[in-house]
Amino acid sequence: MKRFIFEEEHEMFRESFRTFLQKEVVPYRDEWRQAGMVPREVYRKAGEMGFLVPQAPEELGGLGLDDFRFQQIIAEEMGACGETGFISNLHTSIVAPFILANGSETLQQKYIPGSVTGELILGIAMTEPDAGSDVAGMRTTAVDQGDHYLLNGNKTYISNGICGDLFVVAARTNPDIPHAISLFAVEANFDGFIRGANLKKMGMKSQDTAELFFDNVKVPKENLIGVEGEGFKYLMAGLAKERLSCAMWNIGLAQYGLDLTVEFVKERKAFGKSVAQFQNTQFKLADLKARLDAITALCDQLSIAINQGHATSEDASSAKLLSSELLCDVADEGVQLHGGAGYMEEYPICHLYKDSRITRIFAGTSEIMKLIIARDMFKD
Ligand SMILES: Cc1cc2nc3c(=O)[nH]c(=O)nc-3n(C[C@H](O)[C@H](O)[C@H](O)COP(=O)(O)OP(=O)(O)OC[C@H]3O[C@@H](n4cnc5c(N)ncnc54)[C@H](O)[C@@H]3O)c2cc1C
Repeated sequence: MKRFIFEEEHEMFRESFRTFLQKEVVPYRDEWRQAGMVPREVYRKAGEMGFLVPQAPEELGGLGLDDFRFQQIIAEEMGACGETGFISNLHTSIVAPFILANGSETLQQKYIPGSVTGELILGIAMTEPDAGSDVAGMRTTAVDQGDHYLLNGNKTYISNGICGDLFVVAARTNPDIPHAISLFAVEANFDGFIRGANLKKMGMKSQDTAELFFDNVKVPKENLIGVEGEGFKYLMAGLAKERLSCAMWNIGLAQYGLDLTVEFVKERKAFGKSVAQFQNTQFKLADLKARLDAITALCDQLSIAINQGHATSEDASSAKLLSSELLCDVADEGVQLHGGAGYMEEYPICHLYKDSRITRIFAGTSEIMKLIIARDMFKD
């Protein structure tokens, strides 16, 4: 499908990011899966090339590319390369924006330059063992002690939990008001910051995911992001971009899955012809391609809406819902059309099948996406 929202500068950015991924990421996919994480150097290399937080202003080391289409390209190309551990869109489009949009000048100067160079790897810590979809149920507390906050509690399933250096942590600052949540920039080297083990997962094997524990962590006052008690509002505002970025990653991965499958069925022979010649194969793939084109068009539309300041949380939820459900269908049909080979680890579709399953769960489950869309439909 021809896309109309990109100009020459976007195409050049896409081409150079794709070249970077083919050289510095794709050849190491298996090695990183075995290691259970990606090496720090890949962040530094990406940073050197301007692929981390390119939206940051030049005075903070960024490229000043405050046009969401660049972040869209990062998310799509990350997906399209099929490596799911180096999730630089988490760093760029999900975590850094909390500091850029709401952090004080001091905080931005302290952390954004390192995030742009890749010296600092970022993560976000919201989920707790007893509070995932229901953010208001979180128990981690940050108590004002005059010159610092005392942070106590624990978070789970945190991406970059092992390799991350700086985490945006959500904590309750008023025990009596469930939505009185504040966000803090918490360095992994603060005393009392403890990482759990690298969790063993179904897929995304090269992405380190861990529990984080905060045992009387003294967080300097200046590391409060924005205004105390306003964290819930910042999270809700940030989640629209986060979900859109996930949707763009999903469409990149879905295209990757379709390409793998088309290539395979053209080669594979059964009953004297290629599997690609069966009408069932063609119809299945055509159906997926049509859905992919429609969701891509929606994402393109929303990228422009973000630039113009009127993308809504419901719109982003629709894109995340549809794209993650599509991706799982692409992976499932892809395995089916590969036959037994699809179940073998030496075939990339096998990894895509395992990697894609989480996209219906993280950054808000499909059910929560429907809840947000329905809430808007039924509001009075
Ligand atoms: C690999 C991985 C990486 C992750 N990375 C991060 C990260 O970096 N940072 C972070 O903070 N979190 C992260 N998460 C956590 C993730 O965002 C949560 O797992 C997700 O939000 C769901 O929360 P939960 O696991 O507590 O499930 P629950 O909230 O317990 O949900 C269980 C089921 O109940 C359903 N449900 C819940 N509420 C409703 C409702 N109101 N109506 C209908 N159905 C409902 C859900 O849809 C789901 O099907 C990650 C998780 C994984 C697995």
